Amino acid sequence: MRSALVVVAALFCFFTVPDVIAQDSASPALSLSDLDALIAQDEAPQPTLDQSGIVDLTILVAFLSLAVLSFLMKSTTLKYVTMVSAVVYMGFMKGNLVSVVHLFALMEWSFPLFQYNIAWYVLMGFTVVSTVLWGRLYCGRICAFGSLTQLMDRILPSRWRVELPPWIDRRAIYVKYVLLVAVLAYFLVTKDTLVYRYVEPFWMFTLSGSTVMWSLLAALLLTTVFIRNFYCRYLCIVGAGLGLLSNLTVFGIKRWQQCNTCKLCDKECEWGAIQGPKISVSECVRCDDCEILYNDKARCPHWLMIGKKEAKREIPKAP
Ligand code: SF4
Ligand code: SF4
Ligand code: SF4
Repeated sequence: MRSALVVVAALFCFFTVPDVIAQDSASPALSLSDLDALIAQDEAPQPTLDQSGIVDLTILVAFLSLAVLSFLMKSTTLKYVTMVSAVVYMGFMKGNLVSVVHLFALMEWSFPLFQYNIAWYVLMGFTVVSTVLWGRLYCGRICAFGSLTQLMDRILPSRWRVELPPWIDRRAIYVKYVLLVAVLAYFLVTKDTLVYRYVEPFWMFTLSGSTVMWSLLAALLLTTVFIRNFYCRYLCIVGAGLGLLSNLTVFGIKRWQQCNTCKLCDKECEWGAIQGPKISVSECVRCDDCEILYNDKARCPHWLMIGKKEAKREIPKAP
């Protein structure tokens, strides 16, 4: 498995570095207005909030409401409806995703005009506020790529899945933070926003990319078939940024005293976010799996022990 990781990493470097360098030397440095245009491209801004803009905004608000409702209700069905909507609407129809380009804009403190990009501000505002309130809810069900890989994980046979040894997993999660620093430093030095094409796969929803980009994406998706949520857990720069922001989470996941020894939630977590009684807020995407168990009176040892104690109290004493 270690060698598989090394091969994937080598492929990543082999394909991306020369391309980025070539593109960098061939293109002049981008101006601030180019950057603005790239950021605005995500939302395809209209000159005014006309009827189609209002429809877009309404659908976005409805989608985000569905995501929050599914989360608050802990409804698995609604969660999957949200994920399918994320892939279809946020991904293929609108291309509405938080990207490393937005981190570049944040560094330059350069944002699109509010009156022409209300949907953009709604999505960014929702992402930041929901992350501070609950953690990486954006990753758990709003991001189209994350939803796609989670749906793949549901559909593909579990016997194909390979679990990385814990010692590799525990170290590999830091790769995304290294990439975050490296890409932001690269941008600071070169002002090259186009590097996003090689460090995140979100462009795939536009169905247009170079042969190198499609090859990388194919390698990434193939790896994801065997290692669940591979990109999200180990490589995503946006996920790393949101993971850092998650340390401010107000409403974390509660734990019972029995969680000190019980391993049920640990095994249930697809994101490797539970270690013993502790939940790593930066890795958790609020997928609901452990919270459903937490409230499950038929499976969670906390409730089973309470049930047993109550049953004992109810047994009438022998005369
Ligand atoms: S980690 Fe990245 S790709 Fe995965 S869901 Fe989060 S933002 Fe999307
Ligand atoms: S099943 Fe219950 S006791 Fe066990 S880890 Fe989960 S919440 Fe804790
Ligand atoms: S199972 Fe629990 S800890 Fe793991 S990602 Fe889901 S909500 Fe977070």
